[in-house]
Amino acid sequence: MQAQKVREQADDQTRLADGVELVYGMNDQPMLYNPNAGNYVRISPLGIKVVEWINQSLTVDEVIERLMKDYRKPSEEVKPAVDKFFEQLRQARMLNTDPIPQEGVRRSVGSLQKRPVLRIPLITSARAFPAPLVNRLELIPRSSLYLACGTVALLAACMVAFYFGYRGFPAISGSLSWLIIIPALMFHLCLHEMAHAFVLRKFGIQIRQAGIGLLYYIFPIAYVDTTDTYRLRNKYDRAMAAWVGPVFDLAGAAISAVISLSSSGWWGDQFQVLLGIQFTIFLFNVNPLLPSDGLRTIEALMGEFNLRRRALHYLLCKAAFRPLPNYLVHLPKSKKIQYALYSTLSIAYFIGLLYMIALYSIKASLSFQ
Ligand SMILES: [Zn+2]
Repeated sequence: MQAQKVREQADDQTRLADGVELVYGMNDQPMLYNPNAGNYVRISPLGIKVVEWINQSLTVDEVIERLMKDYRKPSEEVKPAVDKFFEQLRQARMLNTDPIPQEGVRRSVGSLQKRPVLRIPLITSARAFPAPLVNRLELIPRSSLYLACGTVALLAACMVAFYFGYRGFPAISGSLSWLIIIPALMFHLCLHEMAHAFVLRKFGIQIRQAGIGLLYYIFPIAYVDTTDTYRLRNKYDRAMAAWVGPVFDLAGAAISAVISLSSSGWWGDQFQVLLGIQFTIFLFNVNPLLPSDGLRTIEALMGEFNLRRRALHYLLCKAAFRPLPNYLVHLPKSKKIQYALYSTLSIAYFIGLLYMIALYSIKASLSFQ
């Protein structure tokens, strides 16, 4: 129905929107980028050809005819595929026609999926990284950054493990001041986001803005707009830009552990609880079943763009003895094993995490009685 609407409105006048350009990302993946809307859409080599044709003034019908001739396919096969292609481009704001508005619930769900954070921008790119700082960042060798990140992660993990071995997982005891803990946590979350921004800027990626916001319009968070990460072509740089978040969480927990061990009494209690919360943030942030930094790191290392959805879909089909969809059938065996492993391990991790939280909550409530 919607594809039909696209054909009616956008037949002979369909062109790319003004300013749309072709850029390349990880694995040399071609993408269209609309600088006015600020978004990207992945495109296949055949898609690039079609886009070039319409920009050479071919109409949609002429594109269909040309594809039928070049690929010797019947019109019943080519037409729906072309319609779907243009519909997707149009909805992604890449064409010279406005996207078709969606109705009611579908629109709300769509906008929540696309933009799960209500944003209040505080810093724009220019103010976050002034030119002298950018110049200095460029002087830092890539290898030093990798080495520093690895060393910090190792030292922080040792410190936190030492703390847990010595005192166990922090228990809520003594009098707590949320007036200390909440601002300290907000500070932690802001620095976490800045760590992502710092690494991305080092790799030459523009940070559009940073600020505070509400995740799913409920949970307060800090955010950095990292949309342009798509432009990072090196998969290790991309993994590093995501992994620096959990490393920062662990480093924050290690600092709290040091302060808690070195100060007794009231301050010790505050930092002990802060350590517990920071470590929990770390555990959730490496959880590959959620759209976390951990997932983005694994995706980058595996050279994948939509790992979670593809892998879970694969496992679900296998578990329910359902036939695999086309995009999963023709995968090499090694990829199928990776998907099965990824989804099984990430589900096991998530269940383990929930089990530990439940156990901890029961223990904590018993010790209060
Ligand atoms: Zn992060």
